[in-house]
Amino acid sequence: MEKNEIGKELVVEKLNKRGVQIEEIANIVHIMQSPYQKNLTHEMCLESVESVLKKREVQHAVLVGIELDELAEKNLLTEPLLNLVKSDAGLFGCDEILALGITFGYGSIAISTFGHLDKIKIGIIKELDVKGSNKVHTFLDDLVAAIAAAAAGRVAHRYTNTA
Ligand code: MG
Repeated sequence: MEKNEIGKELVVEKLNKRGVQIEEIANIVHIMQSPYQKNLTHEMCLESVESVLKKREVQHAVLVGIELDELAEKNLLTEPLLNLVKSDAGLFGCDEILALGITFGYGSIAISTFGHLDKIKIGIIKELDVKGSNKVHTFLDDLVAAIAAAAAGRVAHRYTNTA
């Protein structure tokens, strides 16, 4: 493997190590899109999540976000950034902006779904958002929401019958 070659497998492994299974992301995609797609299966959602994770830009965003969470967890960032990331400061915003970029290639449904998930926080996103533990998930919760939203946008465009 080339030094700067990443690949979906590495990103999935990184997510797993941080407590996120791609099946859990697919569950969110299913919740978001099943009201609009009668025959939507978990497999179709999972296939979309995997397709999103094949995009290099997505892989880069996941790596950057997870790295910052991990550095904050180990107190390896400097102040004031350390405290901003560790405390998941409400007005920090860089976590959402980094993640939002993931949705850009997937149309308006992906972007609006991301905003919706940022508000309602369901499933694994909610589990990651729990504050007070020694884990830092400031970037990860938004990355997961954005991957789910991008996959939901993809599902919408792929399976909606426009005839
Ligand atoms: Mg966040």
